[in-house]
Amino acid sequence: MAFCDQCGRAAAEGEHARCADRRVLEPPRYCPDCARRMVVQVTPYGWTARCSRHGERHS
Ligand SMILES: [Zn+2]
Ligand SMILES: [Zn+2]
Repeated sequence: MAFCDQCGRAAAEGEHARCADRRVLEPPRYCPDCARRMVVQVTPYGWTARCSRHGERHS
């Protein structure tokens, strides 16, 4: 994971402890490969998140 999927900043830099907590509860907002904002849909079973470059991820 090059970028934090919660805050969109470089995963190796800064403090992401809160992001790790939030990740348990919330779907990702940013693509971990390119930090683009993803289109997120929450479903009864989890979520899907789509990056325009990297395609769809799901829970
Ligand atoms: Zn973060
Ligand atoms: Zn991407």
